[in-house]
This record gives sequence, C-alpha cells and structure tokens, in this order.
Amino acid sequence: MLNLYNSYTKQQEAVNLNQEDVRIYLCGPTVQSSPHLGHGRSAVIFDFFIRYLKHLNYSVLYVRNITDIDDKIIQKSQEQNIDYRELAENVWEEFVQAHENLNCLVPDIEPRATSYVPEIVQYIDQLINNGYGYITESGVYYDVSKFDDYLKLSGRSTEEVKTGTRIETEEDKKSPEDFALWKFSKEGEPSWDSPWGVGRPGWHIECSTMINQTLGKTIDFHCGGIDLIFPHHENEIAQSKGVEKNENFVNYWLHNGMLNLSGKKMSKSDGNVKLLNEYIDQYGGEVVRFFFLRAHYRSPQEFSQDLLEESKKTLNNIREYTKDTESDPVDPKVLEIFESCMNDDMNTPKLLGEIFQMIKESNNLKDLEENQRKQTIKYIFEILGFQLKLADQSIVDEKLLSEFFSMYDIKFTEIDTAMNEFISIRNKLRNEKKYVEADEMRDSILKIGIVINDGENVGWYWKNS
Ligand SMILES: [Zn+2]
Repeated sequence: MLNLYNSYTKQQEAVNLNQEDVRIYLCGPTVQSSPHLGHGRSAVIFDFFIRYLKHLNYSVLYVRNITDIDDKIIQKSQEQNIDYRELAENVWEEFVQAHENLNCLVPDIEPRATSYVPEIVQYIDQLINNGYGYITESGVYYDVSKFDDYLKLSGRSTEEVKTGTRIETEEDKKSPEDFALWKFSKEGEPSWDSPWGVGRPGWHIECSTMINQTLGKTIDFHCGGIDLIFPHHENEIAQSKGVEKNENFVNYWLHNGMLNLSGKKMSKSDGNVKLLNEYIDQYGGEVVRFFFLRAHYRSPQEFSQDLLEESKKTLNNIREYTKDTESDPVDPKVLEIFESCMNDDMNTPKLLGEIFQMIKESNNLKDLEENQRKQTIKYIFEILGFQLKLADQSIVDEKLLSEFFSMYDIKFTEIDTAMNEFISIRNKLRNEKKYVEADEMRDSILKIGIVINDGENVGWYWKNS
C-alpha cells in the first residue's frame, strides 16, 4: 500500500483513493526567467510520483499551470523592452525544452493564467460576496482574519506572518497579513477589466481558480516545492475554502525539498543560480534526472558539479549492467523491493541502495537468474522514466567527424587529439583578435554536437541533447 507524507497533517498516511479517478495539481513555473536546477528537481520528483502512480494502475488526471502574468514578468519585460507575452513565451520555451530533455510527462492540462482571467474575476467576486474580500485604492484583498483555518498548513503564527510581511504599495490593506486578489494596473501595464477597475490577478488566486476550473472543488494531490507552503499554498487554501465552504480542497499535500548550492538554498533572489539547460546540455537530461533520484524528495539536496559527475558515473554503471537486456519484470523479488521502497513515501535513495546491493551480488547468480535480475532492474528504471541507453559519443559518426576536421586540415584519428588541434587553431585566431573567425569555428563545431567553453571553464564537451 502506498504511504505518503501529507504536509497538512504532518504525518505519513496510507493513500486511500478511488484509483479510477485521481486528480493532481502541480504548481508550475512563473515564466519570468530561465529555469534553474530547483525547477528541474520539482519537475522530475513529481514525474517519478506520477509515473509510479501509473505503475500502480491509478488513473491520473494531471494538471500543471503556467503563471504567465506577475509583477516580475512585467518588470523584466519592461527592462528588456519587449511585450510581457513575448518574454513569457520565450521563457516557457526553455521550460518545455528542459522538461522534454528530462523526460518528464506532459501534463494532461497546462492552463495559463492569462487564459482564465474572466473565471478569476468571477472567483474573486464570489469571495467578496462570501465576506472574505474587500476593495481598497490599490486593489482587492483577502481578509485573512475571516478564515479560521489560516496557517494550518504552514503552522506559522499570525505574529510571525505580520512581522515577516513587507509593506510596500499595499499599505492600504486592513492588515499586513492580508493578500492581494486583484491589483489595479499602473499606466502602461498589462490589464484586464473587472467590476472593481482594470488590473491583473494576484498569483495565489490564479491557482485556486485554475484548479477549480480544470479539476473541480476537491483534488487528491496538490504538489509543489516546500518554499510554496507559505504564503502561496496557505493562501490557496484560504481562497478555495472561502468559495467552496464545506468542501474538502486537497486530500494530500506533497512538497519537495529545496536544492542547496554549497549549503545555501538555490533561489532566484540569491544569485547563486546555474541554469538547468546548461547542465542538461553538458551531462544529458538523464544524468540530471538520475541526480534527483539520489535524494529523498522531501529532503534538501546538496548540489555540486562533483556530485553531478558522480551521478554520471553511477548511472553509466547501471547502463552498462543492463545493456543487451530487454526490460521485463521477471524477478518478483526485485519488483517487491522496488514497490516496498516506493510505497514508503517514495524512498528513492533506499531503493538505489538496494539496487546497488543486488548488482553487487549478481555475480554469484546463475546466468538465467542474473539475466532476470538485469531485466527487472531495467524495467524499474523504465517505470521511473529512464531509458538507460549507453552514452553519448557515438551520436556523431566517424565519417562525419573526419569530414568536419578536414575542413581545418586536421586529420581525424581520435577525438581528443583532433580537438586539441582544433582548439589551438582557434586560440591562435583569438590571440590575433580575429574573434569573428573564432566564433564561426565555435558555431560550426556546435552543429556537429561539440560545445567549446572559453573563459573560466575552458575546454570542450559533447552536447548531450
Ligand atoms: Zn500554485
């Protein structure tokens, strides 16, 4: 039986649902800047989860939203002097690319906030009618004093929230802990009509409305990063319970832990952010995906380039072990270990430990048994969204390589020597300040799948995706 930690009740619970109809909402990205590794972690973790539910024969309806209007999107698009829609579209493209390369399932529905503005307006209207919303000079706000269960999910006190809330333009709120449902637009900002004045929705109300529109009043799993618990999910609960008073909003709240870079939380505001797609290019999506499998989803995960290197080696060992076998769940013992780890609040590090142990011991098995073990391990990885294809270099064939290098009078025998020559030709151009030619060389070799780095991380690598 599947057991999961419910962040609302703060305990591990046996999942008891109608398997025929399981509704899942994952808070998706605010498309304001390129995805970083933290976005990758959340996407991959809940992809493991959904794939595992499917393995258990749950029939899943999976929704992940796109927040395509928000203060930061407006600010950044103004800085770049482009329309906010253009910025949102460009950034979304990068997310799509990352999700694809990480082999994440495409959600059944991907609602965009800007496509639901009339519904959002209606939702706010309902909140005002039910006594939770009030209108000021700057917008429409939610009066949290009216909602008894406020802060039940995060366990914070009202005092903490009051002192932790920034008061900026919103000083006409009744109370600092109240939050915006609708913000009146300033000159030149994107805006929509509403009965209260032109403006745009607050972030939290977007999710409440889109959940209601796509999945209904009650959902089974609400997923997201642990950093969303307060205020985002707390406010979603306040809104959803404000509109559908007697309905249960969410059956199980699931939150993934943050990614730490040198012990610091990775978030946009800290500046210690590496771009997800850069790592995917360098290591391949499957290595990055495997890196996320190594930590328990609720724990903070340490990130460093060394750990990613290590993931690559480990994954290659598994690829090597399972090569030349077909995936097939023929070893019931292996399958049982898989399910018992996953049923225990998705304990993937424990699962990996068990798998390594089984690989180690498989020398002692008879050929047939060893092969069955390999087939079943391959099957398990396939369920978790891995293809385990042996890596990368063979993507480019030798004929193509020798044709390419001959353009620079380099005789190709093997890649390292050829690349050394190629790079020294290019460095000579750079030293002569012939940057245009040097850039052309870099661009042309990228077309056959080799990336050249200048500067601090000087060197070259195969583009993996
Ligand atoms: Zn959300």
